[in-house]
Amino acid sequence: MSTNFKSIETKLIHAGEPDPRKDGAVVLPIYQSAMFEYGGEKSYHDLKYIRLNNTPNHLALNEKLASLENAEACQVAASGMAAISTALLSVLKAGDHLLAQDCLYGGTYDLLTQDLPAFGIEFDLINGDDPASWEGLLRPNTKAIYMESMTNPLLQVANLTAAVDFARSHGLISLIDNTFPSPYNFSPIELGFDLSLHSCTKYLNGHSDIVAGAVLGAKDLVDSVTRKLNHLGGSLDPHACFLLHRGVKTLAVRMKQHNQSALQLARFLDDHSAVATVNYPGLVSHPNHETAAELFTGFSGMLSLELTGGLDAAEQCFQRLRLPVVAPSLGGVETLVTRPATTSHAGMSPAERRKAGISDGLIRVSVGIEAIDEIISDFKQALD
Ligand SMILES: *Cc1c(COP(=O)(O)O)cnc(C)c1O
Repeated sequence: MSTNFKSIETKLIHAGEPDPRKDGAVVLPIYQSAMFEYGGEKSYHDLKYIRLNNTPNHLALNEKLASLENAEACQVAASGMAAISTALLSVLKAGDHLLAQDCLYGGTYDLLTQDLPAFGIEFDLINGDDPASWEGLLRPNTKAIYMESMTNPLLQVANLTAAVDFARSHGLISLIDNTFPSPYNFSPIELGFDLSLHSCTKYLNGHSDIVAGAVLGAKDLVDSVTRKLNHLGGSLDPHACFLLHRGVKTLAVRMKQHNQSALQLARFLDDHSAVATVNYPGLVSHPNHETAAELFTGFSGMLSLELTGGLDAAEQCFQRLRLPVVAPSLGGVETLVTRPATTSHAGMSPAERRKAGISDGLIRVSVGIEAIDEIISDFKQALD
């Protein structure tokens, strides 16, 4: 059904909606029922039950989200980490080896370092900008490669085309966390990745009121993720399905504004004398600008900056900012600021952070959709 709609704007509204509509309801109702009447199903996985991820709320949402990246299938999950951990455990088994990009989302890094070894799964970290160095880390048991479309908090964009080629030529399954650009700006599936993963907590839902995740890809791979999810139990509740279904409909209008506002704020900050560096792939000065411009339709709403006055100046700036909320997470309608050294990357040692280029004074901004003039004037008074 989703193939009938061409543009992402239209798919967001119409793809996956039941036809005919349930009792004529324009908006898909919440099916707050744990189990459904037995209908002669032959397999355990086909029994209709919330944990088996097959209520009308799951099915409609799966079809809508799959259409956004032109993927064959999608499975929503209880959080981004449920999607990531379930996808990795579907693809990898004891004795397997994984190559993963070296600047991962904190939760994913902790999963790799603290949990996967107990499952007998080994990994090596790769430099996303240096594909020539990857082959040296291949092993006979290397099974998959794991990337992120934009890294947190420095917004680096790796050579993703090389990652797809590398996976194909070595028979690896390729996975990518596409949370930061969102399907509006980038479809890794179209580039050739096998699985595209999302924390729907961020842009897809966009309203900072639920946690949710999704895995997109070919039907056979997504089916194996669903079966694993049925066993591990990280299923999205129907009420959260409803909120994600409602929130995602405005993804296109929100992302257009996030893209535009973040670029304007990045340019303003880049010109301000109190600012030492701005990390935003939309700026021509960003080391991965060309790669990002080639792959993405927009550069999304995330940026980070360092002040010439370092940590002290960053703390003063936080005290003076009035409009943004000081909070972790990202991708909602409200502007948020955070210092990664105290939040997302607090789990790393200061030495590990320094190696990753994350100074204690680094400020990360999730640019919201408030009037950009007001966002900029608030940063201006805080920095002046
Ligand atoms: C937030 C985030 C996650 C984890 O998602 P949750 O919904 O919090 O479980 C994974 N990857 C990225 C890039 C994120 O920003």
